[in-house]
Amino acid sequence: MEIQEIKQQLTIQTVLHHYGITPDKNNMAQCPFHNDKTPSFQIYPKSNTYCCFSSNCSAGTGDQIQFIELQEKHGKHQAILKAQELLGVQPENTNGIDKGESQKTSSAKPKPIEQEHDYEQIFTKLQQNIRKSPDAKQYIKKRNLTTDSLELGYNASGYRDLRNCIIFPLKDKHNKVVSMYGRSITNNGTAKHYYTKNRKGLYPGYPKPDTRKLILTESIIDAATLLQEESISQEYEVLALYGTNGLTPEHKGAIRNLKHLKEIVLWMDGDRAGEKAAEKYRESITQLTCGEQSRTINPKS
Ligand SMILES: [Zn+2]
Repeated sequence: MEIQEIKQQLTIQTVLHHYGITPDKNNMAQCPFHNDKTPSFQIYPKSNTYCCFSSNCSAGTGDQIQFIELQEKHGKHQAILKAQELLGVQPENTNGIDKGESQKTSSAKPKPIEQEHDYEQIFTKLQQNIRKSPDAKQYIKKRNLTTDSLELGYNASGYRDLRNCIIFPLKDKHNKVVSMYGRSITNNGTAKHYYTKNRKGLYPGYPKPDTRKLILTESIIDAATLLQEESISQEYEVLALYGTNGLTPEHKGAIRNLKHLKEIVLWMDGDRAGEKAAEKYRESITQLTCGEQSRTINPKS
């Protein structure tokens, strides 16, 4: 595929989306290449180019390939291969690229589009940040959460996808961090809930196999709050759903495997959305557990 062809077919939006950047309706976004408080990164969909207007930023202007190059930091050749991956085509010899090098690459197995992150390592770093940030400390205090009993992290801007967020680890059945949830602490009217791409894992983790009593909460913060209540966490296992539409196949699998389950409590918000969700969840859970009793608590009603 020729570079011109790639440039015609690959939109700048596709590239931004891949890196977790969503421009606003004026095609502005927070610049991923400097610590950008107000969006100063302009996107031009017609020409598939961008420009960062900040004087403290070296991103300047460029097209979709240059954007990838800045993100990946592996040179133009790799950026072109990545661009082809984003278009869903097998990397092949590209005009204008050193032949020897690209032949080597095309005979190699194509890399998966989504890079695997070591979330264990990332989360450990973010856990250290929370102690250093007065804003983060103030926010968790306001939500009555504490790092004494909870695993919490904070990401100011280092990790691109979850900026200004308190970070909660999502874990697989081996208790390994496999993705993350971020709750934004800024109050600028934008979204509050963020997940890393390819969300997987459960919060605070898979319930113990011998669980007899299980509380399912509507949100991760609700689960964190309950985990701090010793009277509850000693008697119940707690598992967070991901909102009112957040009983995922992974949750279902985990619940189905609990062979000693006697009681499930649905801990939903007392608003209409919470009540509707409780009704829907009760039905799905009854199917999973062959008629096990569940009851609903509306803690906030
Ligand atoms: Zn910038």
